[in-house]
Amino acid sequence: MHELSVTQSILDIVFDHARKNQSRKILKVHLVVGAISGVVPDSIQFCFEALTKETIAEGAMLEIEKVPYTGECASCSKSFELSDYIQSCPDCRSNDIEITGGRELYVKEFEVE
Ligand SMILES: [Zn+2]
Repeated sequence: MHELSVTQSILDIVFDHARKNQSRKILKVHLVVGAISGVVPDSIQFCFEALTKETIAEGAMLEIEKVPYTGECASCSKSFELSDYIQSCPDCRSNDIEITGGRELYVKEFEVE
């Protein structure tokens, strides 16, 4: 399961910081997940709960901020939301689109005690 290793690496980062700051408890983890990051937020939530059992992050709140899949037209600079079906500019029909959002997958912030 892909999400399991992703969640584990997220927790590795958080635990590492917590150790350095001599924190005793992790209260909240704020994660940013893009629409095309390749992970399913619900699965991350499930893995998070499983992997934090009997750790200093047990019971911590996982906040998942979802970022839509967006692009910007290279011809007319219009920003819009992309999907599997929409891959061209809604204004000028150009296919020269630069992806501006949706690939994110990182820990934005977390609260410790
Ligand atoms: Zn355009």
